[in-house]
Amino acid sequence: MTLIIDGNHVAAITRKKAAESVRDFGQRTGGQIGLAVVLVGDDPASAVYVNMKEQDCAEVGIRTFDHRLSEAATQADLSKLIDDLNTDNSVHGILVQLPLPQHLDEEAIIAQISPEKDVDGFTPENLGRTLRGLDALRACTPLGVMRLLEHYDIDVEGKHAVVVGRSTIVGKPQSLLLLENNATVTICHSRTQDLPAICRQADILVAAAGIPKLLDADYIKPGATVIDVGINRSDDGLVGDVDFEAASHVASAITPVPGGVGPMTRAMLVENTVTAAQKQCSQA
Ligand code: NAD
Repeated sequence: MTLIIDGNHVAAITRKKAAESVRDFGQRTGGQIGLAVVLVGDDPASAVYVNMKEQDCAEVGIRTFDHRLSEAATQADLSKLIDDLNTDNSVHGILVQLPLPQHLDEEAIIAQISPEKDVDGFTPENLGRTLRGLDALRACTPLGVMRLLEHYDIDVEGKHAVVVGRSTIVGKPQSLLLLENNATVTICHSRTQDLPAICRQADILVAAAGIPKLLDADYIKPGATVIDVGINRSDDGLVGDVDFEAASHVASAITPVPGGVGPMTRAMLVENTVTAAQKQCSQA
């Protein structure tokens, strides 16, 4: 029987624990944990993501500060907002929904977020600290994947993990977290030769390429764990980077899309916000 990894279930457990920590924070400090959510422009998918993240926060008792800027916002407008949020003591976490409109310098904005409030874990400081194995706010999606593996007792140590994708928000930090947990890691990308042969060596296969159903049964070693990070819009609704139907006959455990990694990314944002607030208050 193939195990279907239930991200909604693990995310619900994570939110429940976060809600307890939020209550505890309130009792200890008399304050409320706050997350600033910044959305620039009117991309409908980004608006949906932001609304879901705000709902998650409301559920656990985190206050959100909603900042919606028009498509015409300038770099100076956004930069001024980030400066204000960095120094606002009621804001413990800052989330800038990506992608930003083309005319804005995304790298500069991310780098400007105070690392202590960088709940997405995207700043050079937090990614660098992750690379060095130091305490850091970790990128939400890779952290969520690790939590899923942990929850289902899927051992990583000594296993061959293949990560398909090398983006800064998923593939690279995912590889670091797997390595940190003593996996032997191979990173594949768009120039990789003979992708199926490399994927077939994986005990743990993480797909994060953004190509619908790129990986079918031929890419999967019998008994492997398959984690599908991909979220792609198609005529059939949301589909992952893995052909779920075909892969589930070969894998021993697999995440569905939707309902796998996606809910965990949101849950890790909530958890990172709580962690950020706790650290800021212990330093105050
Ligand atoms: P990206 O476009 O920044 O990076 C894609 C990576 O895949 C690149 O490194 C590229 O080299 C590699 N790639 C592209 N084509 C390939 C091919 N044919 N063979 C091998 N590698 C190939 O994308 P991203 O931001 O890392 O996101 C990847 C996917 O994950 C997307 O579908 C995105 O929507 C999804 N995503 C999901 C979550 C979640 O919460 N589940 C979070 C972030 C991203």
